[in-house]
Amino acid sequence: MAYLVIRCGCGRYLYVPEGDKTRTCLCGKRIQVSKARILAKAADALSAGSVVRAFQMEGRGMTGFSPAHK
Ligand SMILES: [Zn+2]
Repeated sequence: MAYLVIRCGCGRYLYVPEGDKTRTCLCGKRIQVSKARILAKAADALSAGSVVRAFQMEGRGMTGFSPAHK
C-alpha cells in the first residue's frame, strides 16, 4: 500500500495510508487528507517513515543531509 506524506499546521510531518480520509496528528489536530498538501508519496510505511524523518531534518537545518556543514 502506498503512503502519502503530509504536514500538519503545527509543523509535524505525518504519513497516512493512501485512501485514508483523515489523520490525527500528535498535537491532536485532525487533518483532512483531501485538503492537505501532499509532499511526497512512498511505496510502504517504512520508506514513508524515512521520508518524514528527512523532511523534519530539512525543516530544522535547511540542508539536513550534510551534518558536517555546520
Ligand atoms: Zn499537528
